[in-house]
Amino acid sequence: MILVYIFVFIFGAVVGSFLNVCIHRLPRAESIVFPASHCANCNRPIPWYYNVPIISYLVLGGRCKFCKAKISLRYLVVEGLSAVMLTVLFWRFGAKPELAIYATFFSALIVISFIDIEHWIIPDEISLPGAALGLIISGVYPALQGQASRLIALRESLFGILFGFVSLYLIGLIGKFAYKKEAMGGGDMMLLMFIGAFLGWKLTIVAFFVAPVFGSIVGVPRLIMRKQETIQYGPFLAIAAFICVLLRNEILTVFPI
Ligand SMILES: [Zn+2]
Repeated sequence: MILVYIFVFIFGAVVGSFLNVCIHRLPRAESIVFPASHCANCNRPIPWYYNVPIISYLVLGGRCKFCKAKISLRYLVVEGLSAVMLTVLFWRFGAKPELAIYATFFSALIVISFIDIEHWIIPDEISLPGAALGLIISGVYPALQGQASRLIALRESLFGILFGFVSLYLIGLIGKFAYKKEAMGGGDMMLLMFIGAFLGWKLTIVAFFVAPVFGSIVGVPRLIMRKQETIQYGPFLAIAAFICVLLRNEILTVFPI
């Protein structure tokens, strides 16, 4: 059994190195399949034996083998995070369809979170097709919403999308009214709609209220230290969504309907 977990962890790290490529290239409108990995500084192609997830970064001390330029710590963090994410999902759901569905979903959330951290944008190119995909999967595989009926599963997913739209639209309105400026970007709204489609409205409501807790733990000290007025909210929504998925059954029993 331990071998299976090791395999899942390694597979997650490999997925993570692909996610790194997406995080680097999507905001720059570059293709994610071509060309092969190259150093962002000297442009030399990286041979596979220097491109082993997690290990290469540690062996090379976080520097390019050729030009010795520093490689962003983000590469190591994303590979590790992806590996842990997949391992935890496997532990929680086993080899069921939920594993593949949630792994795809949270891979997208990792990409979105790190693009948000680096560029302060949440790409709608992922969130909107993602929301549509979540709705479709809920109809095809209603167990994703903890339902037996396809129609009810579709309703749960659709209400999740609606909750994401309405709640952040209202916060945006209140922010404009109270502070005379954008409180929450449109990207956050699309992201919560994406989360709503996969999680259904019940888990999404819980995630919506859990996210600010993490946001304030990390955000408040940063706001004070750097005197910034806003923080990237995407990563906190992603963390909250992950916790809600792990506690899915427990949360769903709390709701009477
Ligand atoms: Zn280099």
